[in-house]
Amino acid sequence: MKARVIVLGSGTSHGVPMIGCTCAVCRSTDPRDRRSRPSIYLDVQDGPAILVDTSTDLRQQALANGIHHVDAILFTHSHADHIMGLDDVRRFNVMQGGAIPAYADERTATDLRRSFSYVFNPPDDKGGGIPQISLTTINGRFNVGGIGIQPIPIFHGSRPILGFRFGSFAYLTDCNRLSDDAWPLLDDVDVLILDALRHRPHPTHFTVAEALEVVERVKPRQTYFTHVCHDLAHAATNASLPRGVELAYDGLALTIETAPAWT
Ligand SMILES: [Zn+2]
Ligand SMILES: [Zn+2]
Ligand SMILES: [Zn+2]
Repeated sequence: MKARVIVLGSGTSHGVPMIGCTCAVCRSTDPRDRRSRPSIYLDVQDGPAILVDTSTDLRQQALANGIHHVDAILFTHSHADHIMGLDDVRRFNVMQGGAIPAYADERTATDLRRSFSYVFNPPDDKGGGIPQISLTTINGRFNVGGIGIQPIPIFHGSRPILGFRFGSFAYLTDCNRLSDDAWPLLDDVDVLILDALRHRPHPTHFTVAEALEVVERVKPRQTYFTHVCHDLAHAATNASLPRGVELAYDGLALTIETAPAWT
């Protein structure tokens, strides 16, 4: 089944522009240099609508991209930039009339239960309401609404976290190394979204040069770099990248082919 993928946020944890920064990229008038916190949305034709991470900017991202339905949420990991929009899920609960299934590995699920104790251990007096999430711990491939999803084990510094593969498309944010098991799971990927923070080395994110080495090995037809900080101006960086590799930007939309459910 075909799916439309929207890059909701392509920026690093601070976002671009950063608070208090007057660099050329933070002052740029190119809308592609305005990067909100990292997240994507997959709208499968005649299938589920899947949100990957609930970024700090979820509300603005949903408004900017006309998102009014979420059937499932996948979490890559529990860093603040990827989870702090969870409270905004309340709107989808109200509009859809029920809890939303969410999927995370064991460590991220544990962190979510602690960081959002008011969601997972709700008080008697719920005031303005709380998000309704039905959280499943995943350990290997799983299905959502007839779609087969393959978690990809990646390293974010020393911490193992998850990327996700949906058929011909893979989303690998927040990583500086792929586990040995990850490479065969990326065979024949057509479109790849991959972490590339900046040119200078970083302990938990790929640099542009390191990300290009991954592209060399995986050989996707098209790659977009995400989790980009204010060191990289969109237009100038794109001009320096090889054919088939570009920076992602907020609002970028792609069409990909999902995989059928695992049996
Ligand atoms: Zn991040
Ligand atoms: Zn800046
Ligand atoms: Zn992170």
